[in-house]
Amino acid sequence: MQNSFIEIKEDSHFPIQNLPYSAFQTHNGEIHLCSAIGDYLIDLFVLDEAGLFDGPKLEGQFAFQDSSLNYFMSLGKEAWKEARATLQDLFSADNEILQQDELLRDRVLIPMNGVEMVLPMEIGDYTDFYSSEQHAFNVGTMFRGPENALMPNWKHLPVGYHGRASSIILSGKDVRRPKGQILPQGSDTPVYDSCKLLDFELEMGFVTGVGNELGSRIDVNDAEEHIFGLVLVNDWSARDIQKWEYQPLGPFLAKNFATSISPWIVSLEALEPFRRECKKQDPEPLEYLQQSERSTFDIDLEVAIQSDKMTEPRIVCRSNYQNLYWTMSQQLAHQTVTGCNVRPGDLYASGTISGPTEDSYGSMLELAWKGTKPVSLGNGEERTFLQDGDRVIMRGYAQGEGYRVGFGEVNTKILPSH
Ligand code: MN
Repeated sequence: MQNSFIEIKEDSHFPIQNLPYSAFQTHNGEIHLCSAIGDYLIDLFVLDEAGLFDGPKLEGQFAFQDSSLNYFMSLGKEAWKEARATLQDLFSADNEILQQDELLRDRVLIPMNGVEMVLPMEIGDYTDFYSSEQHAFNVGTMFRGPENALMPNWKHLPVGYHGRASSIILSGKDVRRPKGQILPQGSDTPVYDSCKLLDFELEMGFVTGVGNELGSRIDVNDAEEHIFGLVLVNDWSARDIQKWEYQPLGPFLAKNFATSISPWIVSLEALEPFRRECKKQDPEPLEYLQQSERSTFDIDLEVAIQSDKMTEPRIVCRSNYQNLYWTMSQQLAHQTVTGCNVRPGDLYASGTISGPTEDSYGSMLELAWKGTKPVSLGNGEERTFLQDGDRVIMRGYAQGEGYRVGFGEVNTKILPSH
C-alpha cells in the first residue's frame, strides 16, 4: 500500500489512492485546477509551473495552467495515467521534493476548508439516462401498474434524453424552487404556479475525455478509453411540471432549472480496485451493445435530508452504483451509434440509482411512493416531496481496506420560488 507524507484519516475521501480533479478560486481570484489529498487541495497550476509534470506526455503541454480540464481531458488515457503517476510519486512518503521545499509545499497545499470550488470543465452537452431497472420498474408501476411497468424498449437500449448543460452547477450552490405550468388534480386547464412536487434523483455521471468525429461510432469495447472519470449527480426534478409537459417528447422544463454535481471527478484508474462483474443481461442486447466483459464499480451511495429545523441530516436512502442495468460503455456506444459526436467535458448521467429495497430508492417519488408513504425525518417532521429550506446531501465512496476513494458530496439547499 502506498503511503503519503500527508496525514490522512481512514474515513477521508481523498487518500493518495484517489487524487480526483476539480478547480478552485485562489485568494487573488484566479481559477486554478486542483486535486486533493487528505484535508488539502493540491494546486496543479503551481506544480505545473514548477515543471514537475515532466513525463513524455505532459512536458511542455502546460495542461494544468488552463482554467478548465477540457484540454487535459482531450490528451487521452496515457496522459491521464502519467499525471496520476506523477502526483502519486510527488506525495509518496519516500519522495523528498515537496518535503524538503517548504516554500513550494506551502504554495501547492491549500487547506480545503472554506475554499470556493469551481466547475472544473466546460460542459458542452449533457445526457441523462434511465438505467436502473428498479427505478424504471417503480415509476412504471406507479403510472401503469406492475404488468406494464417496463416499456417494451427498456431491456433493448439504454433509454435517455438530451438534458441542459447550461444549468449544471456545483455542490454548495442553492437551487430555487422552479415555477411553471401545472395541471391541478381534477382540472383540464393548467395554472402557472410554483412546483409543489420538487424531487431529487440520486445519480452518478461520467465525463468524457477524448471525443469522436461526427459520423463515427465509439465501439462498446473501446468506450472506456473515452471516459475521463465519474462525478456524483443530483438530477433535480419538478414532478408536477414533468407530468403535464412530458408527452409526447419527454422531459423538458421539469429538468432544466438545475443539475447539481460533486466538485470532484474521480478517475477510472482510482476506481479500478472496486471493479465488479455485472450480471448477464436477458435478453442479450443487439451486437453493438454487447461487451466482451461487462463490469461496473462498487460505490456506496447515500442521500440525506436536513430541514431548517434539524441540526443533523437524516439519511433517507442507501444505494450502490452496481444497481444499474446498463454500463457506461453501453451508454456511450448507444449515444454514438448514429454517428453523434461526443466532446471532452460532456456529462452522461446514469439515471436514478434505485436498489431492490424500499430504503434504497433514489428519489422522493419512490421513497414516499407518489406521496402515499411519507418519509420520517426523525424529529417529528416528515416529507413526501422537498420543502423550502431543506438541504439535500448526497455522498458516495468506494471502500477499500483501510482507505476510501470518495467523491465528497453534493450538498444543496432549496430556496423558495420567486
Ligand atoms: Mn434523471
